[in-house]
Amino acid sequence: MSKKTIKIISIFLIIFLIIILSIMVENGTIQTSSNVVSDKKIEWGIKRNKNHEQPDLGKENRKILEENNGIALGNNEEKTIYLTFDEGYEAGYTSKILEILKENDVKATFFITAHYLNTNEELVKQMIEENHIVGNHTKNHKSMPELTQEEIRKEVMDLHTAVFEKFRI
Ligand SMILES: [Zn+2]
Repeated sequence: MSKKTIKIISIFLIIFLIIILSIMVENGTIQTSSNVVSDKKIEWGIKRNKNHEQPDLGKENRKILEENNGIALGNNEEKTIYLTFDEGYEAGYTSKILEILKENDVKATFFITAHYLNTNEELVKQMIEENHIVGNHTKNHKSMPELTQEEIRKEVMDLHTAVFEKFRI
C-alpha cells in the first residue's frame, strides 16, 4: 500500500469514528458533561419583587428548573397563592395554622422531614385527614449536592416509605 492510500484510509477512519461517537453521544450511549446532572452547589434564595409581582428565582435556578420540568412558580396570569410550609421541626405554630386553614377552607402543603414525622405524628395525621398535601422534605434535610446518587435516593425514599407505612389505610 502506498503512503497516499494509508493516509486516505486513516482520514476516512477518523471521520467514521467521529460520526459514530457523535451518534453515541446523541443517543445517550456516551454521557457528556451536558447530560449528566451537575452537583455544583447553587444557593436557593428567592428575591422578593416589588409591585406584587412574582419573586425572582435567579438565572441559574430558573435554567435548571426549565431544563428538568421543575415548577417553582405558578402561572402569573392567574391570581392564585400556594401556601407551603417548611416543617424541618415544629416551632409551635402548626396546630394554629391547621385550625385557621380549616376555618377558612384553605388547603396547604407541608414539607416534612423524618424528625418532624417522628416527633409530631399527630399533626401529620391531621394534615392528611384534613386533605392537605404532605410534601417530602427528605429524611434528614441534608445538602443534596454533597451526597451520592444512592444517598439522595435514600433521603427521599426512606421518608416516603415511613409516611406510607405509618398512615396507609
Ligand atoms: Zn427546609
